[in-house]
Amino acid sequence: MSKLIASAAIRGAHKLVKQAEEMLEQTIRDKGESHTFEFPDTAFYLPMIYAMTGFPVKTLGDMRTALGYAKELLHPEPEENVWKPYLGEALDSGMATLFAEEIILALKYINGFEPVTDPETGYVYNGFITDTIQRNLGIQLVDGTMPGFAAVIGAAPDDDTAVNIVRELQEKNILIFLSGHVNGNSVTKQLLRKGVELGWDTRIVPLGPDTEHTLYALDWAVRASLIFGGKKPGDYKEHLKYQKDRVFAFAIVLGELDDIKWSTGAGAINMGFPAICDTDVPVIHPTGVCTYEEVDKELDHSKIVQKSIEVRGLKIIVEKPPIPVAYGPAFEGERIRKEDMFIEFGGQRTPAFEWVRMKELEEVEDGKVTIVGTDWQKKYEEGGRMPLGIVIDVAGRKMQKDFESVIERKVHHNINEAQGLWHMGQRDINWIRINHNAKKEGVTLEHLGIIQTTMMKHRFKSIVDKVQVTIYTDEKDVLEIREQARQAYKERDQRLGALTDEAVDTFYSCLLCQSFAPSHVCVITPERLGLCGAYNWLDGKAAYEIDPTGGNQPIEKGQLLDARYGRYSGVDEYLKKASGGAVETLNLYTIMENPMTSCGCFECIVAIVPEANGVMIVQRGHQGMTPVGMKFSTLAGSVGGGVQSPGFMGIGRNFITSRKFLYGDGGIKRIVWMTKNLKESLKEAFEERAKEEGVPDLLDKIADETIAEDSEKLLEFLSSVGHPALEMEPMI
Ligand code: SF4
Ligand code: ZN
Repeated sequence: MSKLIASAAIRGAHKLVKQAEEMLEQTIRDKGESHTFEFPDTAFYLPMIYAMTGFPVKTLGDMRTALGYAKELLHPEPEENVWKPYLGEALDSGMATLFAEEIILALKYINGFEPVTDPETGYVYNGFITDTIQRNLGIQLVDGTMPGFAAVIGAAPDDDTAVNIVRELQEKNILIFLSGHVNGNSVTKQLLRKGVELGWDTRIVPLGPDTEHTLYALDWAVRASLIFGGKKPGDYKEHLKYQKDRVFAFAIVLGELDDIKWSTGAGAINMGFPAICDTDVPVIHPTGVCTYEEVDKELDHSKIVQKSIEVRGLKIIVEKPPIPVAYGPAFEGERIRKEDMFIEFGGQRTPAFEWVRMKELEEVEDGKVTIVGTDWQKKYEEGGRMPLGIVIDVAGRKMQKDFESVIERKVHHNINEAQGLWHMGQRDINWIRINHNAKKEGVTLEHLGIIQTTMMKHRFKSIVDKVQVTIYTDEKDVLEIREQARQAYKERDQRLGALTDEAVDTFYSCLLCQSFAPSHVCVITPERLGLCGAYNWLDGKAAYEIDPTGGNQPIEKGQLLDARYGRYSGVDEYLKKASGGAVETLNLYTIMENPMTSCGCFECIVAIVPEANGVMIVQRGHQGMTPVGMKFSTLAGSVGGGVQSPGFMGIGRNFITSRKFLYGDGGIKRIVWMTKNLKESLKEAFEERAKEEGVPDLLDKIADETIAEDSEKLLEFLSSVGHPALEMEPMI
């Protein structure tokens, strides 16, 4: 590391530690040492300090202690032009900087200055990134749809350059965090001026206007090793190694660097994240932690994204259909408001449907898109509304009838990932919109078909050899073929409904999350989907056909060792290997003994409520208290990391209405509390199951947050309604 930079980094650290100390002492004078603080929705206190030192900062007094750690890391401030420091000192200062910044931001929260609102535009920055968002994004991190993160710091030389850099990152599916400024100008402001949609939906997340706000991105990174990696707080070496090996982050620094940028950069380098600058900085070659350049430069803005990807060594494969608009998961979250809409199909406004059908190879002409309808061009050009039937014929040597639904579910993503196109729903309740911009760029009805022919073959490489699409636009045709489609949907559902754990010989594993939670394995059976909710048994089967060496492997069930608890010899054998010895045996149908482990991206958590002789279920994103005295975020902290924790379990939402849900513990009759959100969204299927269990009004007997948030009130309610769990055999 060059002398100059090391001096700047150390100077920056001193400034920030001093600033943190002054702010802290003032806040302690105002509010007292015992004033408590936590960042919004996190179970990890001040995450950087917690991960690195193991010290949970809960009060202002604790912050004083933590700031002491930062001071210990400081080295004497270099006098101007005198060379003393060397690499290690700069890196220590980097970590001291991160601690100080974390305390400064916490204090700003306490004093009501975070998240920041931009005074000129009224734009509210994201501020601290919650655990919920981190978990929501978990699957995308592991399945490759989000190959990395970029922290873009500062401001581009002009607004258009800012847009170009961000668009390029978006098209490569990289999550973008924005922070910092150059003389008051920033990429956030540049994008706002250009009308670019910001936020989690578009994967461009402005954290705050200062360099210090970059810490929120690092706080998010370090929580990955706590949440998914199961690394212990305080084991700083393990955390740093995990960050370097598994968190593909880098910084793009636009504009001149000051001391604070250098010291924050030294903190990021500590974590293994390189910085690529658009100014003439000295290049810093690999030293201790990294095998790549730690600081590099690229003065040409049209090459800076590519350079960053090369430096960090990201593998990026982007498949784009030949359409006149941008394409990629980053555009999936865009909404199309009524004013922006050029034309729409379905959504209860016109008849519509989408239907994937398996055909013989000779029946399909690959890549062919046919549009059937009178004057369809003219009707499309007029805009407004149109009926629409999309029939997608697929054929392949390894294609199976069962995969139709798996493939059909991708219609949604295929359309949504096109910029200016929007899709909701499925089957005969689908709804599609195209906005004015996309129309102006030249998107036609035909492109709806081209997207499907290209992307289905890409996504299902080894099971789909040929795809052809027929689009119907006359109401009469749409209604007629919709009836055929409905018949097919019905047959599929019946077949799926009859698919039980007993009826198959093979389960599937999902190992995708092992890139973040190395010992976690999801065992997916016909009656138990993966805990993230994104993969069911058919998905696992299809994925295995597509890529036999991929993340979904067949598990021969073997012998049934325990029918009540759902223990199989084949599953146990498989797990021992696949979990690296962390899990010896697994019971699929109970929470009490050797239950399934969790990685961290579960949709819901089931937890035992001993007083009530039952369990409660809370979904990710629920902010309130639960009857076990913990919020979702705290509960989640004790369930992840790939370890079995009896009494607690992460599950996919739809597992709740499976006949195998806690089958060994008494099934759904054990549910004593469940959030209103879950009660409402599962209502229909749940009532069906409740009838089967002989308690048709079970849902009304289950408490929710409007009835009780503590166990005392819960018990009162349960006895007043005569909840069946109270009469069941003791859980413990
Ligand atoms: Fe991760 Fe399990 Fe979902 Fe696979 S099924 S992505 S392992 S949570
Ligand atoms: Zn996961």
